[in-house]
Amino acid sequence: MKKIKSYIIGFLGISFLTICLFFLQSHVNPITVSLVFLLFILLVATIWGSKPAISTSIFAVFCFNFFFLPPIGTLTIYDPQNWVALLAFLIVSLTAGQLSANSKQRAEEAENLYRQLQIAFEQASDTEAIRRSEKLKSSLLDAVTHDLRTPLTSIKASITTLLESENNKDFKLDDENKLEFLSVINEETDRLNQFIEEMVELARIEAGELKLQQTWCEANEIVENALRRLESVLSDYNVKKTFEKDLPLLRADSKMLAEVLYNLLENAAKYSSKQSTILISAKLYEKDSIEFSVLDEGRGISLDLRRKVFDKFYRVIVENEHTPSGTGLGLAIAKGIVEAHGGRIFISDGLNNCGTKFTFVIPIGDE
Ligand code: ADP
Repeated sequence: MKKIKSYIIGFLGISFLTICLFFLQSHVNPITVSLVFLLFILLVATIWGSKPAISTSIFAVFCFNFFFLPPIGTLTIYDPQNWVALLAFLIVSLTAGQLSANSKQRAEEAENLYRQLQIAFEQASDTEAIRRSEKLKSSLLDAVTHDLRTPLTSIKASITTLLESENNKDFKLDDENKLEFLSVINEETDRLNQFIEEMVELARIEAGELKLQQTWCEANEIVENALRRLESVLSDYNVKKTFEKDLPLLRADSKMLAEVLYNLLENAAKYSSKQSTILISAKLYEKDSIEFSVLDEGRGISLDLRRKVFDKFYRVIVENEHTPSGTGLGLAIAKGIVEAHGGRIFISDGLNNCGTKFTFVIPIGDE
């Protein structure tokens, strides 16, 4: 159908040009006419290929001869040079048609190649996604097994011992020992509770379901809130605060930001020795944000791990060194909360080039 259309367009085009040029005959000479026909044939060849162009050429030669070459009104060709025009028309038709067919074929080949590459990329990224989700599943399983089983084992052992002491006449615990077992149960259930709470919070962040209760709040108030909750832990450290004067109010979820500071301060204490200095500061950053930071003099985090520690379940385990208990979720949660506020969090060197400095920057907000 498309083919027939191209022949008809070729035929109609030459007819139309012949009529126009015929009426303009006093202004145009046969060379102009042949060039106009040639251009049209070139167009047909480029769009539809050689075959419609050849039939258009034959018809063009017929019209050219009949209407524009003496003797006008006959198909006799007096001047042998006019055969040259016919030949030129045919050669143009064949070459241009061939060239256009070639370029079309190349375009098709390129498109096929592009499609194949696209499919290959999609398959590769699917495989990568599956691999990542498998990896995540197994690290989740490891973490859950470890973080749930360890406290459960201690709780179970303590309860079994306490029950044994109640039921077995030959095995009696004194009050001090009983209290010790009970406090183990108390601490380990707290640990379980914290782990479950952190898992739920992280799941909420990852599902984009973290609902921020944003109000205008003071940076000072956020820091004090976190410090209050950690009072007993931080009493063994030299805690210092530096606040820039007249800090503007901040539109944020103060509880959530206090949670971020809580995680950072708890880590600062956990990963540095007692009596060392922990410095908390808040200052204006580029006029439209507030920068909070927590510095410590602890073991520090090497440059190559400063991004990784924000991954969930990631913990730095140093051989032959005591690793404080933890879940590897605190920083992932902190990052999620900071980013939900449109802010960012990063690590640099701590005090006196040792230790760690955690900084997070939160936009002041403008409502
Ligand atoms: P957790 O403390 O429960 O292991 P986090 O997500 O809070 O989990 O921290 C991830 C890891 O980052 C920690 O295991 C620790 O190795 C490292 N880290 C975090 N804070 C500090 C710090 N202030 N100093 C040194 N290492 C730290």
